[in-house]
Amino acid sequence: MRVAFLGLGAIGRPMAKHLAKQHDLTVWNRTRARADEFAAASGARAAATPREAVTGAEVVLTCLPTSREVEALLDGPDGILAGLAAGALLLDCTSGDPAGARRVAERLAARQVAFADCPVSGGTNGAEAGALTVMVGADAATFERARPLLAAFGKRIEHLGPVGAGSAMKAVNNALLAVNILAFGEGFTALAKAGVPVRKALEVLNASSGRSFVTEGLVPDRVLTGAWPNTFRLALLDKDVGIAVGFLESQGVDAPVLQLTSALMHAARAALGEEADYLEAIRLQERRTGAEIRG
Ligand code: NDP
Repeated sequence: MRVAFLGLGAIGRPMAKHLAKQHDLTVWNRTRARADEFAAASGARAAATPREAVTGAEVVLTCLPTSREVEALLDGPDGILAGLAAGALLLDCTSGDPAGARRVAERLAARQVAFADCPVSGGTNGAEAGALTVMVGADAATFERARPLLAAFGKRIEHLGPVGAGSAMKAVNNALLAVNILAFGEGFTALAKAGVPVRKALEVLNASSGRSFVTEGLVPDRVLTGAWPNTFRLALLDKDVGIAVGFLESQGVDAPVLQLTSALMHAARAALGEEADYLEAIRLQERRTGAEIRG
Protein backbone atom coordinates (compact mmCIF):
# COMPACT_ATOMS: atom_id res chain seq x y z
CA MET A 1 0.00 0.00 0.00
CA ARG A 2 1.21 3.58 -0.68
CA VAL A 3 1.60 5.22 2.71
CA ALA A 4 2.90 8.63 3.80
CA PHE A 5 4.19 9.46 7.29
CA LEU A 6 4.61 13.07 8.45
CA GLY A 7 6.54 13.84 11.64
CA LEU A 8 9.63 11.79 12.43
CA GLY A 9 10.04 12.83 16.05
CA ALA A 10 10.97 10.70 19.06
CA ILE A 11 7.89 8.48 18.72
CA GLY A 12 7.10 8.99 15.02
CA ARG A 13 10.45 7.68 13.81
CA PRO A 14 10.18 4.16 15.31
CA MET A 15 6.53 3.95 14.25
CA ALA A 16 7.44 4.84 10.67
CA LYS A 17 10.24 2.27 10.73
CA HIS A 18 7.68 -0.52 11.13
CA LEU A 19 5.52 0.89 8.33
CA ALA A 20 8.55 1.03 6.01
CA LYS A 21 8.94 -2.75 6.36
CA GLN A 22 5.37 -3.43 5.20
CA HIS A 23 4.46 -0.59 2.83
CA ASP A 24 5.63 1.66 0.04
CA LEU A 25 6.44 4.55 2.39
CA THR A 26 7.15 8.23 1.77
CA VAL A 27 8.14 10.39 4.74
CA TRP A 28 8.18 14.11 5.38
CA ASN A 29 9.73 15.93 8.32
CA ARG A 30 9.97 19.67 8.98
CA THR A 31 13.73 19.34 9.42
CA ARG A 32 14.58 17.76 6.07
CA ALA A 33 17.85 16.16 7.24
CA ARG A 34 15.90 13.85 9.59
CA ALA A 35 13.72 12.64 6.73
CA ASP A 36 16.77 12.03 4.52
CA GLU A 37 18.52 10.14 7.29
CA PHE A 38 15.41 8.03 7.91
CA ALA A 39 14.99 7.31 4.19
CA ALA A 40 18.60 6.22 3.83
CA ALA A 41 18.26 3.81 6.74
CA SER A 42 14.80 2.40 5.97
CA GLY A 43 14.42 2.37 2.20
CA ALA A 44 11.54 4.87 2.38
CA ARG A 45 11.44 7.96 0.14
CA ALA A 46 11.88 11.44 1.62
CA ALA A 47 9.58 14.17 0.29
CA ALA A 48 10.34 17.89 0.26
CA THR A 49 6.84 19.02 1.27
CA PRO A 50 3.71 17.55 2.89
CA ARG A 51 1.99 17.90 -0.48
CA GLU A 52 4.65 15.83 -2.23
CA ALA A 53 4.56 13.21 0.53
CA VAL A 54 0.79 12.63 0.39
CA THR A 55 0.39 12.79 -3.39
CA GLY A 56 -0.66 9.31 -4.50
CA ALA A 57 -0.84 7.99 -0.92
CA GLU A 58 -3.79 5.79 0.05
CA VAL A 59 -3.11 6.31 3.75
CA VAL A 60 -1.40 9.24 5.48
CA LEU A 61 -0.22 9.18 9.09
CA THR A 62 0.70 12.30 11.06
CA CYS A 63 2.57 12.44 14.37
CA LEU A 64 3.16 16.05 15.43
CA PRO A 65 3.32 17.81 18.81
CA THR A 66 -0.28 19.06 18.98
CA SER A 67 -3.45 19.37 16.90
CA ARG A 68 -2.39 22.93 16.03
CA GLU A 69 0.56 21.71 13.94
CA VAL A 70 -1.67 19.12 12.24
CA GLU A 71 -4.26 21.76 11.31
CA ALA A 72 -1.52 24.11 10.08
CA LEU A 73 -0.10 21.39 7.82
CA LEU A 74 -3.39 21.01 5.96
CA ASP A 75 -3.22 24.39 4.27
CA GLY A 76 -1.13 26.25 1.72
CA PRO A 77 0.23 25.35 -1.71
CA ASP A 78 2.55 22.73 -0.18
CA GLY A 79 0.06 21.49 2.42
CA ILE A 80 -1.64 18.13 2.83
CA LEU A 81 -4.93 19.20 1.23
CA ALA A 82 -3.12 20.28 -1.91
CA GLY A 83 -1.94 16.71 -2.52
CA LEU A 84 -4.43 14.35 -0.87
CA ALA A 85 -6.79 12.49 -3.19
CA ALA A 86 -10.49 11.75 -2.53
CA GLY A 87 -10.87 8.28 -1.04
CA ALA A 88 -7.67 8.48 1.02
CA LEU A 89 -7.50 7.92 4.79
CA LEU A 90 -5.67 10.18 7.27
CA LEU A 91 -4.66 8.71 10.63
CA ASP A 92 -3.49 11.30 13.14
CA CYS A 93 -1.27 9.68 15.79
CA THR A 94 -0.60 13.02 17.48
CA SER A 95 -1.80 13.22 21.09
CA GLY A 96 -4.14 16.00 20.02
CA ASP A 97 -7.28 17.52 21.44
CA PRO A 98 -10.77 16.21 20.70
CA ALA A 99 -12.07 19.48 19.23
CA GLY A 100 -9.01 19.78 16.97
CA ALA A 101 -9.55 16.21 15.76
CA ARG A 102 -13.18 16.97 14.93
CA ARG A 103 -12.18 20.12 13.01
CA VAL A 104 -9.65 18.17 10.94
CA ALA A 105 -12.18 15.39 10.31
CA GLU A 106 -14.74 17.91 9.03
CA ARG A 107 -12.30 19.55 6.66
CA LEU A 108 -11.21 16.19 5.29
CA ALA A 109 -14.77 14.91 4.96
CA ALA A 110 -15.46 17.84 2.63
CA ARG A 111 -12.75 16.31 0.38
CA GLN A 112 -14.05 12.73 0.74
CA VAL A 113 -11.07 11.81 2.90
CA ALA A 114 -11.71 9.62 5.96
CA PHE A 115 -10.10 10.47 9.30
CA ALA A 116 -9.34 8.83 12.64
CA ASP A 117 -7.56 10.24 15.67
CA CYS A 118 -5.21 7.46 16.81
CA PRO A 119 -2.93 8.60 19.62
CA VAL A 120 -0.57 6.00 21.00
CA SER A 121 0.81 4.97 24.38
CA GLY A 122 3.82 2.86 25.28
CA GLY A 123 6.70 5.27 24.82
CA THR A 124 9.66 5.06 22.49
CA ASN A 125 10.50 1.54 23.71
CA GLY A 126 6.97 0.39 22.94
CA ALA A 127 7.22 1.98 19.51
CA GLU A 128 10.56 0.27 18.78
CA ALA A 129 9.01 -3.05 19.81
CA GLY A 130 5.85 -2.48 17.73
CA ALA A 131 3.86 -2.89 20.93
CA LEU A 132 2.01 0.42 21.32
CA THR A 133 -1.53 0.80 22.58
CA VAL A 134 -3.52 2.75 19.98
CA MET A 135 -6.64 4.70 21.03
CA VAL A 136 -8.87 5.27 18.04
CA GLY A 137 -11.67 7.77 17.50
CA ALA A 138 -13.52 7.15 14.23
CA ASP A 139 -16.67 5.74 12.70
CA ALA A 140 -16.80 1.95 12.61
CA ALA A 141 -15.94 1.60 8.91
CA THR A 142 -12.91 3.91 9.20
CA PHE A 143 -11.69 2.01 12.25
CA GLU A 144 -11.79 -1.28 10.32
CA ARG A 145 -9.83 0.35 7.49
CA ALA A 146 -7.29 1.78 9.89
CA ARG A 147 -6.71 -1.30 12.02
CA PRO A 148 -4.33 -3.24 9.70
CA LEU A 149 -2.20 -0.12 9.21
CA LEU A 150 -2.03 0.59 12.92
CA ALA A 151 -1.09 -3.03 13.59
CA ALA A 152 2.35 -2.27 12.10
CA PHE A 153 3.29 -0.58 15.40
CA GLY A 154 0.30 -1.29 17.66
CA LYS A 155 -0.31 -4.34 19.80
CA ARG A 156 -3.59 -3.27 21.39
CA ILE A 157 -5.74 -1.25 19.00
CA GLU A 158 -9.01 -0.08 20.52
CA HIS A 159 -11.98 1.78 19.05
CA LEU A 160 -13.13 4.24 21.75
CA GLY A 161 -15.93 6.02 19.88
CA PRO A 162 -16.37 8.73 17.23
CA VAL A 163 -13.64 11.15 16.13
CA GLY A 164 -12.20 12.85 19.24
CA ALA A 165 -12.71 9.85 21.54
CA GLY A 166 -9.15 8.58 21.00
CA SER A 167 -7.71 12.00 21.90
CA ALA A 168 -9.89 12.27 25.00
CA MET A 169 -8.80 8.81 26.19
CA LYS A 170 -5.13 9.62 25.62
CA ALA A 171 -5.38 12.95 27.45
CA VAL A 172 -6.99 11.31 30.49
CA ASN A 173 -4.33 8.57 30.45
CA ASN A 174 -1.49 11.08 30.37
CA ALA A 175 -3.10 13.27 33.02
CA LEU A 176 -3.08 10.25 35.34
CA LEU A 177 0.54 9.62 34.41
CA ALA A 178 1.38 13.21 35.37
CA VAL A 179 -0.45 12.89 38.71
CA ASN A 180 1.57 9.76 39.46
CA ILE A 181 4.89 11.38 38.57
CA LEU A 182 4.30 14.45 40.73
CA ALA A 183 2.88 12.52 43.67
CA PHE A 184 5.73 9.99 43.54
CA GLY A 185 8.30 12.82 43.58
CA GLU A 186 6.68 14.41 46.62
CA GLY A 187 6.28 11.19 48.59
CA PHE A 188 9.72 9.79 47.87
CA THR A 189 11.72 12.97 48.47
CA ALA A 190 10.07 13.00 51.90
CA LEU A 191 10.96 9.33 52.52
CA ALA A 192 14.57 10.00 51.41
CA LYS A 193 14.80 13.00 53.76
CA ALA A 194 13.48 10.85 56.59
CA GLY A 195 16.32 8.37 55.98
CA VAL A 196 14.17 5.51 54.65
CA PRO A 197 16.31 3.48 52.18
CA VAL A 198 14.90 4.42 48.79
CA ARG A 199 15.33 1.09 46.99
CA LYS A 200 13.66 -0.78 49.82
CA ALA A 201 10.85 1.80 49.92
CA LEU A 202 10.29 1.30 46.18
CA GLU A 203 10.22 -2.49 46.56
CA VAL A 204 7.64 -2.17 49.34
CA LEU A 205 5.56 0.27 47.30
CA ASN A 206 5.63 -2.03 44.28
CA ALA A 207 4.33 -4.86 46.47
CA SER A 208 1.57 -2.59 47.82
CA SER A 209 -1.49 -0.70 46.67
CA GLY A 210 0.17 2.63 45.81
CA ARG A 211 2.19 1.17 42.92
CA SER A 212 1.75 2.41 39.37
CA PHE A 213 3.38 2.29 35.94
CA VAL A 214 5.59 5.13 37.13
CA THR A 215 6.87 3.24 40.17
CA GLU A 216 7.13 -0.14 38.42
CA GLY A 217 8.03 0.81 34.86
CA LEU A 218 9.97 4.06 35.08
CA VAL A 219 11.50 4.73 38.46
CA PRO A 220 13.78 1.65 38.72
CA ASP A 221 15.66 2.30 35.45
CA ARG A 222 15.51 6.05 35.21
CA VAL A 223 15.27 7.62 38.64
CA LEU A 224 17.06 5.24 41.02
CA THR A 225 19.94 5.05 38.54
CA GLY A 226 19.98 8.81 37.85
CA ALA A 227 20.02 7.98 34.11
CA TRP A 228 17.26 10.45 33.03
CA PRO A 229 17.13 9.54 29.32
CA ASN A 230 15.23 11.95 27.04
CA THR A 231 12.33 10.08 25.44
CA PHE A 232 9.21 12.23 25.90
CA ARG A 233 9.31 15.96 26.37
CA LEU A 234 7.79 17.36 29.53
CA ALA A 235 6.32 20.14 27.37
CA LEU A 236 4.22 17.48 25.61
CA LEU A 237 3.00 15.98 28.89
CA ASP A 238 2.09 19.50 30.05
CA LYS A 239 0.11 19.87 26.82
CA ASP A 240 -1.66 16.56 27.49
CA VAL A 241 -2.75 17.56 31.01
CA GLY A 242 -4.09 20.83 29.60
CA ILE A 243 -6.10 18.88 27.03
CA ALA A 244 -7.46 16.62 29.78
CA VAL A 245 -8.58 19.62 31.88
CA GLY A 246 -10.32 21.08 28.83
CA PHE A 247 -11.97 17.76 28.10
CA LEU A 248 -13.28 17.41 31.68
CA GLU A 249 -14.61 20.97 31.52
CA SER A 250 -16.34 20.16 28.23
CA GLN A 251 -18.15 17.35 30.04
CA GLY A 252 -19.13 19.57 33.00
CA VAL A 253 -16.84 17.59 35.32
CA ASP A 254 -14.98 19.55 38.03
CA ALA A 255 -11.24 18.89 37.87
CA PRO A 256 -9.50 20.25 40.98
CA VAL A 257 -6.81 17.53 40.99
CA LEU A 258 -6.04 17.83 37.29
CA GLN A 259 -6.13 21.64 37.40
CA LEU A 260 -3.49 21.62 40.12
CA THR A 261 -1.50 19.00 38.18
CA SER A 262 -1.70 21.22 35.11
CA ALA A 263 -0.46 24.26 37.06
CA LEU A 264 2.44 22.24 38.48
CA MET A 265 3.35 20.87 35.04
CA HIS A 266 3.27 24.41 33.58
CA ALA A 267 5.61 25.55 36.34
CA ALA A 268 7.96 22.60 35.72
CA ARG A 269 7.97 23.36 31.98
CA ALA A 270 8.76 27.02 32.65
CA ALA A 271 11.61 26.03 34.99
CA LEU A 272 13.11 23.25 32.86
CA GLY A 273 12.46 24.37 29.29
CA GLU A 274 10.97 22.85 26.15
CA GLU A 275 13.50 20.05 25.71
CA ALA A 276 13.46 18.56 29.23
CA ASP A 277 12.27 14.98 29.62
CA TYR A 278 8.98 14.40 31.47
CA LEU A 279 10.62 12.66 34.42
CA GLU A 280 12.71 15.76 35.04
CA ALA A 281 9.67 16.91 37.03
CA ILE A 282 10.90 14.51 39.73
CA ARG A 283 14.41 15.96 39.48
CA LEU A 284 12.98 19.44 39.99
CA GLN A 285 11.32 18.21 43.18
CA GLU A 286 14.69 16.73 44.25
CA ARG A 287 16.34 20.12 43.68
CA ARG A 288 13.67 21.92 45.69
CA THR A 289 13.94 19.57 48.64
CA GLY A 290 17.65 18.77 48.48
CA ALA A 291 16.79 15.05 48.64
CA GLU A 292 17.75 12.56 45.91
CA ILE A 293 15.73 9.45 45.08
CA ARG A 294 18.58 7.00 44.27
CA GLY A 295 19.50 3.53 45.29
P1 NDP B 1 9.06 15.34 19.19
O1 NDP B 1 9.12 16.68 19.81
O2 NDP B 1 10.17 14.38 19.41
O3 NDP B 1 8.86 15.48 17.60
C1 NDP B 1 7.92 16.34 17.07
C2 NDP B 1 7.82 16.15 15.58
O4 NDP B 1 6.93 17.16 15.06
C3 NDP B 1 9.13 16.34 14.84
O5 NDP B 1 9.11 15.56 13.67
C4 NDP B 1 9.10 17.83 14.51
O6 NDP B 1 9.91 18.17 13.41
C5 NDP B 1 7.65 17.98 14.15
N1 NDP B 1 7.18 19.37 14.27
C6 NDP B 1 7.27 20.16 15.35
N2 NDP B 1 6.69 21.35 15.10
C7 NDP B 1 6.26 21.30 13.81
C8 NDP B 1 5.60 22.22 12.96
N3 NDP B 1 5.25 23.45 13.37
N4 NDP B 1 5.31 21.83 11.70
C9 NDP B 1 5.65 20.60 11.26
N5 NDP B 1 6.28 19.68 12.01
C10 NDP B 1 6.57 20.03 13.28
O7 NDP B 1 7.67 14.72 19.66
P2 NDP B 1 7.29 13.17 19.84
O8 NDP B 1 7.64 12.42 18.62
O9 NDP B 1 7.77 12.71 21.16
O10 NDP B 1 5.69 13.32 19.98
C11 NDP B 1 4.83 13.44 18.85
C12 NDP B 1 3.40 13.25 19.38
O11 NDP B 1 3.29 11.94 19.97
C13 NDP B 1 3.03 14.25 20.49
O12 NDP B 1 1.68 14.59 20.38
C14 NDP B 1 3.30 13.46 21.78
O13 NDP B 1 2.53 13.95 22.85
C15 NDP B 1 2.91 12.05 21.35
N6 NDP B 1 3.53 10.95 22.08
C16 NDP B 1 4.89 10.90 22.35
C17 NDP B 1 5.43 9.81 23.05
C18 NDP B 1 6.90 9.71 23.37
O14 NDP B 1 7.26 8.78 24.14
N7 NDP B 1 7.78 10.55 22.86
C19 NDP B 1 4.57 8.72 23.54
C20 NDP B 1 3.19 8.82 23.13
C21 NDP B 1 2.70 9.91 22.47
P3 NDP B 1 11.46 18.58 13.57
O15 NDP B 1 12.23 17.30 13.42
O16 NDP B 1 11.68 19.55 12.47
O17 NDP B 1 11.60 19.22 14.94
